[in-house]
Amino acid sequence: MTTVSRILFTAPGEVATEATEEPDAPLPTGHVRIAPQYLGICGSDLHVLHGGHPFAKPPLVPGHELSAVVVETAPDVTGVAVGDRAVIDPIMACGACRACRAGRPNLCEPPRVAGFRAPGFGRTSHVVPAANAHVAPASLPLDRLAFAEPVACAVHCLSRVPNPADREDLLVIGAGTIGLTIVQALRVSGAGRLTVQEPDPAKRDLARRFGADVAVAPGDLPEDAAYTAVIDVVAAQATLDEATTRVLPGGPVVVMGVPSGPREVPLPSMQRFERDLLGSGMYVPGDFDTAIAWLADGRFRTDGLITDTFSLREAAAAYRRAAAPDSIKVLVRLAE
Ligand SMILES: [Zn+2]
Ligand SMILES: [Zn+2]
Repeated sequence: MTTVSRILFTAPGEVATEATEEPDAPLPTGHVRIAPQYLGICGSDLHVLHGGHPFAKPPLVPGHELSAVVVETAPDVTGVAVGDRAVIDPIMACGACRACRAGRPNLCEPPRVAGFRAPGFGRTSHVVPAANAHVAPASLPLDRLAFAEPVACAVHCLSRVPNPADREDLLVIGAGTIGLTIVQALRVSGAGRLTVQEPDPAKRDLARRFGADVAVAPGDLPEDAAYTAVIDVVAAQATLDEATTRVLPGGPVVVMGVPSGPREVPLPSMQRFERDLLGSGMYVPGDFDTAIAWLADGRFRTDGLITDTFSLREAAAAYRRAAAPDSIKVLVRLAE
């Protein structure tokens, strides 16, 4: 038996750290055993914690943003070795359905994502498919590596706007963790003028620091301002109204935020002027490799984005801190 410590959402709003005894079993074919290092907390974890997520309710072990060290590999595993640092893709896709075969495992149904419908990463030992481990250079600090998951979200979002003409004059609505990550990703991968709309002045400052040319509060955009593409990281009715009316004819609106329910869109103007409404949902494996490369060579900076780090024993405080409006990314250090 091995003692494994883990974070447990015991009931809505309740976070505990507990130790469990897990039997020592040989690794299944194609799997690796990992020692999780840093876990990022995101808004979707808070939805689960407070009972607001449709498919994942307490009690459960949360967590889907993880850096880890590989400690054991099944004999058939290649490409991942003991001692490797890795970020773990939380999408436990079937590998066989139409979406998976098309290279879009983020669309596999039903989605089995760690911390939601698959076991969460908030534990001190875990077994995952080797295919989900993306190896990073040993020079990349493990706390920054935990940021690869939100960066992969942004990389994927930008893959929905591949046309350089659509990136000439962009509006990003919302400058929380993901909005700020998208702003920086746009700067890394090439974009023209970048406008950010965000109510929090501190987050507007960060948006400027990460490359926004203009950052304004909601309601402060010039009346006739229009953009080649709009990324809505909030997905409220008001932000979607802004996005769909501010995008130029022929331009895309990418819904990156998680809407809490159905939304209305001005379909006549979207139909006639070919304004496209696109979704961006999680990422595909290649997005992690791009994210790791950007983090490893310093093109993507995490200073100012990782605001707090808590120990595993302080997990309850970490989730409270993550709910505070002035936090960006809160990490839990899982390893002692
Ligand atoms: Zn997340
Ligand atoms: Zn599948």
